Amino acid sequence: MVTDQHDALTGTPVVPGVAHGPVLVARTDLDPDAVARYRAPDDADEALAAYDDAAAAVSKAFTARAASAHGSAAGVLTASAGLAKDKGLRGAVKTNLAQQPLLDAVHAAIEQFVGVFESMGGLMAERTTDLRDIERRVVARLVGEPEPGVPVPDAPSVLVAEDLAPADTAGLDPAVVLALVTERGGPTSHTAIIARQLGIPCVVGVAGALGLSSGEQVLVDGAVGTIERGPDPDDAEQRVERDRVEREAVASWTGPGRLSDGTAVKVLANVADGPSSEKSADGPVEGVGLFRTELCFLGRTEEPSVEEQTEVYAAALRPFADRYVVVRTLDAGSDKPIAFATHDGEENPALGVRGLRLSFDNPGLLDRQLDAIAAAAKETGTETWVMAPMVATVQEAAAFGEAVRERGLKAGVMVEIPSSALLAHRMLEAVDFLSIGTNDLTQYTMAADRMATDLAHLTDPWQPALLQLVAITAEAGRTAGKPVGVCGEAAADPLLACVLAGLGITSLSMAAAAVKPVGARLATVTHQQCEDAAEAALAAADPAAARAAAAEVLLG
Ligand code: PEP
Ligand code: MG
Repeated sequence: MVTDQHDALTGTPVVPGVAHGPVLVARTDLDPDAVARYRAPDDADEALAAYDDAAAAVSKAFTARAASAHGSAAGVLTASAGLAKDKGLRGAVKTNLAQQPLLDAVHAAIEQFVGVFESMGGLMAERTTDLRDIERRVVARLVGEPEPGVPVPDAPSVLVAEDLAPADTAGLDPAVVLALVTERGGPTSHTAIIARQLGIPCVVGVAGALGLSSGEQVLVDGAVGTIERGPDPDDAEQRVERDRVEREAVASWTGPGRLSDGTAVKVLANVADGPSSEKSADGPVEGVGLFRTELCFLGRTEEPSVEEQTEVYAAALRPFADRYVVVRTLDAGSDKPIAFATHDGEENPALGVRGLRLSFDNPGLLDRQLDAIAAAAKETGTETWVMAPMVATVQEAAAFGEAVRERGLKAGVMVEIPSSALLAHRMLEAVDFLSIGTNDLTQYTMAADRMATDLAHLTDPWQPALLQLVAITAEAGRTAGKPVGVCGEAAADPLLACVLAGLGITSLSMAAAAVKPVGARLATVTHQQCEDAAEAALAAADPAAARAAAAEVLLG
């Protein structure tokens, strides 16, 4: 990528935070002359012995660094110490030595392992950086050079590298490393792991990062993944300061959910089981807005008994005995198949028998679950609301509402299908509350599979059409005087959360990690600003324009 002085480079944002300062490019390559001068032993046994000595020395150095490191840094260094002495790797070097001189044999063995790790994908694929780092270090030992490494900055700097290996990142000092930028690597690379641990703003996978020069000034935004070259210094310092203040506000937010003028917007947690509920209960949330019950039974082939279900639900309800929990009945099917509930062989499962529809030909499944939820509510004393997923008609809402109320619980339905948003006012004649599942509502509004990465621009929750359906649903709630929440991913976006509040949404339910950022952002804006931002977003042509228009109103 060609970069001008004022170009912004972009990559994968890993650790949020804004940093401004000079670049320090870390080159971890070996001196090519030293490598060229090296004469490997002709005898294969002697060459293997030289490899053993070098690998042992590299491993020992990793172990020594691990001893003085902490947390995940120590873990990654210990893992590298083991990898340097790996028997399989040594075996590959030995085999290659029958055909090749030592450095080529080592290189081929490493590449062979890189291929294996890459084919395994995921975390293993990210470990290829460690393999290449081990090769550089072993070769350095063989040719009599010092092991390559990252220079220690003598002034606070933005460290830029192709990728950083465990040994490089483990010794980083947050006092002098303002931010980390790497050309390669993904969100689970060691660079990312260590940056997260140290709290250093970090962007990885930045095409063209090595085109930056040591000494040039950059502004790194670890939340959005941009590196601006040659920013205006005053402007940059202001952004750094604003980010610092915002991060402090997020860290110190303790709830409850309120806009700056005191308007209440409940901030709730999404949970999957007892342990996640316990964890969420420690946070500043007023309750659980979505307990996804199907996630408790994903691997099960037989329907759990009412007694077992009661126990599982009680474990999630108990931590919130002083607050309230919205339990969602089984949303099995489509992207969450459950052997004992879902229909096999559907042509189009996203539009098939999923969620509440499973009760059409198997009403006992829903009845038994409602019995178990009612028993768990009684046992724990937790205020329990129950809602159904994938509700399409008013009759479905009425039948479900009756079944829930019969058991003495508060009844609601999810708004995930455009038909239920359009008829929200009539749904609310049948139930006590609505909860908008923006993930599915976007999928069905835009006719775009929520799992399809190449349709992500369509399944963006900032789509004005989605916002329009939220507006219709919230308005129905306001007229009926009943709560309408959002429990899809949209609620976890701090800016969008403000827009949803402006549309009239009364509660936002989200993953634990989003609670503080959303709560802190809501606290900075008035209801009027939220309404203005909502109006601007609704009028926008596309998601990017909607986001930009809302940001202008909310962030100034
Ligand atoms: C949704 O669709 O927004 C929702 C909350 O349900 P799920 O993501 O579990 O389908
Ligand atoms: Mg859904």
